[in-house]
Amino acid sequence: MPRIILTGDRPTGRLHIGHYVGSLRPRVQLQNSGEFDKILIMIADAQALTDNADHPEKVRQNIMEVALDYLSVGIDPKIATIFIQSQIAELTELTFYYMNLVTVSRVQRNPTVKAEIQMRNFEASIPVGFFTYPISQASDITAFKATDVPVGEDQKPMLEQTSEIVHKFNSIYGDVLVDPNIILPKNDACLRLPGTDGKAKMSKSLGNCIYLSDSEADIKAKVMSMFTDPNHLKVSDPGNLDGNTVFTYLDAFCNDEHFEKYLPEYKNLDELKAHYQRGGLGDMKVKKFLNSIIQAELEPIRNRRKEFEGNIDYVYNILKEGCAKARDIASQTLKEVKSAMKLNFFDNSEYLDELHKRFGK
Ligand code: ATP
Ligand code: MG
Repeated sequence: MPRIILTGDRPTGRLHIGHYVGSLRPRVQLQNSGEFDKILIMIADAQALTDNADHPEKVRQNIMEVALDYLSVGIDPKIATIFIQSQIAELTELTFYYMNLVTVSRVQRNPTVKAEIQMRNFEASIPVGFFTYPISQASDITAFKATDVPVGEDQKPMLEQTSEIVHKFNSIYGDVLVDPNIILPKNDACLRLPGTDGKAKMSKSLGNCIYLSDSEADIKAKVMSMFTDPNHLKVSDPGNLDGNTVFTYLDAFCNDEHFEKYLPEYKNLDELKAHYQRGGLGDMKVKKFLNSIIQAELEPIRNRRKEFEGNIDYVYNILKEGCAKARDIASQTLKEVKSAMKLNFFDNSEYLDELHKRFGK
């Protein structure tokens, strides 16, 4: 079976370092591993509209922002197909059929959807489209017969929902759909990077992000005002690492070479952590170290972005060609799906032959 990756992001803002460690960095590694036959990366504008129906301009603008972020982190359009969800009508059609295979109570149990409903204060007025987006995500994944889906931890319930739909579909209509594997980041700190405010998830909707395209000054200001241990008031106080966002970011970003380069009095992160816990290490020093690491990681990304910004027709054409390629694949799967569901009337003579048998010629 060919190995196929499908993943994507909502164009609700520029991409941030949570996306980077949770999904973009592993995506680029998988792309460069050469182990995959196809890689599809979707800008999920239709999904973004499920909670942004009043802001079509925001979604439209952010399509290019996300595409620029992809290219600047190293997604290679010669290997990966980048496309825009709304341009593939087949995905919507699949969703309509999959909706019959999922109960309302099943969607209500999805913990990510539950948390997002709460975060958006949707309790009394959930748009039906938003409520059902996990089903549309199953369409996005299965339309391309994806075998592997690299995402952050919040997407786990979506992958479970997809597997259930695949099993139900295949058991009723025959083996058409492929059950995908989730690929989660190996480093625990990257599963769900917290926001700079210490909230559980860095998220465009919460405004607690360091964006990949932030300026050097913005990054510094954000790092210096980051949430740490609220009880670590004096340098001499023992510090706590639990829920200490600065250390979580160090877990996600730093390696021993960074110590050699920026903080040679420590060998590694364990030594730094031990000193912080003992007391005698100030937050400022740790934040300055983190700032050096993040600046070094983001500077080349920001510079590549500027180059692509100066070549916008090239990026536009990548998206246009990507959509055409994605549409070809999805329409082939939809054909198979409809045929399995007995919704193929005019593809060949099968239906007419049936009618002749029933009614005579
Ligand atoms: P929104 O607030 O609009 O939902 P978002 O910041 O959650 O935006 P998405 O576009 O929903 O971003 O997510 C895209 C991908 O990035 C998913 O695979 C998701 O798991 C991953 N991701 C998003 N935020 C984080 C994070 N803080 N840590 C790790 N992975 C993340
Ligand atoms: Mg999200």
